[in-house]
Amino acid sequence: MISLERLGVLERSVASDGTAEFGLAHAADTGPRLVALLPKNAPLLGTLEGEPAARGDRTLLVGPASARNAAALRAALPWLAPRTLGNRTSAGLGDRLGLATPGHVRAVRAAGSGVAPVFAQQSVREMERTARTPQEVIDDATWGVFAEGWREVHGADADHLKTAADVDASVAAGYTFFTFDPGEHVDDAAESLDGPSLRSAFDGLPWEDLADRPQDMRRRYRDYAFEAEGHKVRFDELSLARAAVKYGRAVGHAAGLFRHLVEAARGRPFEVEVSVDETESPTTHAEHVFIARELQRLGVRWVSLAPRYVGRFEKGVDYIGDVSAFEADLAVHAAIARTVVPGGPYKLSLHSGSDKFSIYPAFVRQTEGLAHLKTAGTSYLEALRTISSLDAGLFREVYAFARERYEEDRASYHVSARPDRAPVPDDVGDADLPRILEQFDAREILHVTFGSALQEAGLRERILGLLRDNPERYAADLVAHFVRHLQPFTRRGPS
Ligand SMILES: [Zn+2]
Repeated sequence: MISLERLGVLERSVASDGTAEFGLAHAADTGPRLVALLPKNAPLLGTLEGEPAARGDRTLLVGPASARNAAALRAALPWLAPRTLGNRTSAGLGDRLGLATPGHVRAVRAAGSGVAPVFAQQSVREMERTARTPQEVIDDATWGVFAEGWREVHGADADHLKTAADVDASVAAGYTFFTFDPGEHVDDAAESLDGPSLRSAFDGLPWEDLADRPQDMRRRYRDYAFEAEGHKVRFDELSLARAAVKYGRAVGHAAGLFRHLVEAARGRPFEVEVSVDETESPTTHAEHVFIARELQRLGVRWVSLAPRYVGRFEKGVDYIGDVSAFEADLAVHAAIARTVVPGGPYKLSLHSGSDKFSIYPAFVRQTEGLAHLKTAGTSYLEALRTISSLDAGLFREVYAFARERYEEDRASYHVSARPDRAPVPDDVGDADLPRILEQFDAREILHVTFGSALQEAGLRERILGLLRDNPERYAADLVAHFVRHLQPFTRRGPS
């Protein structure tokens, strides 16, 4: 009798579907390999790819960690496939390199129960910048989940989808969580329009797309005073016009994406988040009510919503603003999310959510755990931390490259770093390199230049190669970092 453990398979990865056994082996020369021990003539042998060898009455197959084998494994071991999470407290742990899931799994375990993880999560923009497909993002997470033996529920978030084509690509790859980003249709200028301009902009909305008429909308909101757990949210003609001009087109666009998704999913379970976080001006409480009411009128069902909160949410650094003002404002958003639509409460989502340590307690307190935390680039920064302690020369090259690229790459991100305030590489000794990752400006500079670094031939393979050769070091850095993110979400107030 042979056992998978004796073939160099990671013990925690070993799993069975009742007839066959599977495991993941790590070999320095070939990278991760799927090892499967199946009954001779098992139908799965037609689906898996690899080298088969007879072992008595069984077949031992050793194959690549490929897309085809990932799909076959998800079919054989259903817990590997992403699922919907509903109203569970949840956290998205985006992974731009495709190597972070093992560390993410360990962090979720170490933080304690209560947070449902999303391991596969990448926005369309970041897939372009890292030259990865929606399928590769899912498959990388599958291999990480398999390697670590994670058998609890986990989701897969196709993040910041903007078009019907984005939806189609994500459905085909097997995502279960679809984040619609109609931000390009949010009209921030509505904030500063005067009465007459607002009225004419209101009349000019695409009423047909909204299946609505101006007079009908005015009637629905006339003297409208919405009450959410004691918080009053009032509309008058101007505040309605402002909400409608600012968010009306975005609501219509999100509804169109939803209708498209319902058809594309062909009955498969899915869940939707609507995000307007990447816009200039904060979402007021009245605007939140308007968005939710109108989405609902148009038939959209969603599990989470990401308003643009007050304060500044820059990439990879803590919240910038008054934490108590944030909490007071959030309290009303959370009450609205619990009460505004008959379809039930929905989660509030915290985008650009990494490293916002100062507001996590308030976020969990006010949402009462109806919360989704979304992080992505911070796992890349942890990869750089790993690199800074293993290969000072490579880290220096990445940092110097990032400083060159920053002015161009920062354009599509909310950041305020100034290169003249970031440490000069030559002033920092090798042993102190990890400290660069604690400095505000350097962090943002490194954060937003990931795409350029990963597309730079001389850097990409060395970054990935070093992390592949040192998976335990990268996982340990991720665990230390993410336990701090997740623990506030696992302790839900007094219990
Ligand atoms: Zn976002």
